[in-house]
Amino acid sequence: PPQPVTVTITGAGGQIGYALLFRIAAGAMLGDRPVRLRLLEVPQGMKAAEGAALELQDCALHLLRSVDITDDARSGFEGANIAMLVGARPRTAGMERADLLSANAGIFGPQGAALNAVAAPDIRVVVVGNPANTNALIAAASAPDIPGERFAALTRLDHDRAVGQLAQAAGASPTDVRGVTIWGNHSATQFPDVDHALIAGRPARDVLSERLGGPGAALAWLDDEFVPRVAKRGAEIIAVRGSSSAASAANAAISHVRDSVLGTGDESVSAAVLSHGEYGVAEGIYSSFPVTSDGTGYRIVEGLSLDDRARARIDASASEIVAERDAVRALGLL
Ligand code: NDP
Repeated sequence: PPQPVTVTITGAGGQIGYALLFRIAAGAMLGDRPVRLRLLEVPQGMKAAEGAALELQDCALHLLRSVDITDDARSGFEGANIAMLVGARPRTAGMERADLLSANAGIFGPQGAALNAVAAPDIRVVVVGNPANTNALIAAASAPDIPGERFAALTRLDHDRAVGQLAQAAGASPTDVRGVTIWGNHSATQFPDVDHALIAGRPARDVLSERLGGPGAALAWLDDEFVPRVAKRGAEIIAVRGSSSAASAANAAISHVRDSVLGTGDESVSAAVLSHGEYGVAEGIYSSFPVTSDGTGYRIVEGLSLDDRARARIDASASEIVAERDAVRALGLL
């Protein structure tokens, strides 16, 4: 029988956590492999996590081997195979960027160090909490013995949002859409790119041209509607729902881990992974790229052609990540 996988979730008492735990325990992330859940919270989040653990017990899920709750990072990450770093310090009214970055460095630095010390040798980490790309960099920098390629920041929600918008515009099903890429930062500067995407096997640009009345109209739709809608979808959800997206964020985090562990086949998805300079993106930052996995972790898909429009947008978003890194460095946090 397959060995249980230990999955540690930080911020497990929050709303994304609540949408994550039950699906992981029900097998949506790791197939039929049994799971041990570790819920890592701050002291004020412990009760919410404990409540979720009671409900998990009440689901009597056959794949769930154990649930442990702790506010101590070392016990939380002990022997972890997968870490999903959801808990983060949200930006509150009047908070300066330096305060946000240092509050989060104070979370992700010690978590990286704890992962380095006690996680399983095959640990893979996905950062959900914002600013996710920079938090991933800080965690990885604090874990010198874990290869930087084992860390990623989540841009799968942006990816899935782009797939959903494209499918709707084309009158197609999301399963007909392939080859969409999110480039850059998980922020409003991200570049959702359909230049290599296919809809039911045909270039997405051609399908959009047909439906919208020519290549100019397709490009205008991409620049004026698609890109901003995807990049600002989080704010749209908050405005409509009254609170931030949780189920879709949890779904994306599950898809990210599932595809990393079970493999993507030849289909590319998006994740913010360590740049070694691919596509001219600064080396050493976590930036979103097209990626595939054979089950051993994400690798960047190389060799895609980029036109001037894509080049400029990717450069702008990557520059924002570099600026965040430099701000963290200037504060002495990296
Ligand atoms: P959520 O569960 O809604 O969100 C958690 C984090 O995910 C936030 O940083 C949020 O960023 C981020 N996020 C990323 N993508 C999305 C998305 N598409 N939609 C929404 N959020 C997204 O927050 P809650 O406040 O409900 O829960 C946070 C929990 O984390 C609390 O229980 C708290 O106690 C805990 N916590 C734990 C820590 C730890 O374990 N060390 C440290 C800090 C907090 P954004 O705010 O930008 O939306």
